[in-house]
Amino acid sequence: MGRRKSKRKPPPKRKAIEPLDILFNCPFCNHEKSCEVKMDKTRNTGRVTCRICLEDYQTTTNFLSEPIDVYNDWIDACESAN
Ligand SMILES: [Zn+2]
Repeated sequence: MGRRKSKRKPPPKRKAIEPLDILFNCPFCNHEKSCEVKMDKTRNTGRVTCRICLEDYQTTTNFLSEPIDVYNDWIDACESAN
């Protein structure tokens, strides 16, 4: 009996490369997609700046951090400040 199931994995489907979402709504001026997150991986910092009201925030990141994490930190900081 020589029936062997092929264990070969199918090649991974190529994902469409989506740019990470780095634009978020501003909690200060309430403009949509006005806050841009910039990740500085070498300094382990992330910075978010609003293009409209120029509010900004900087936080420490790690290699797993995504722009959304920086933004969430900002929102948390805003809420704890209030
Ligand atoms: Zn703003």
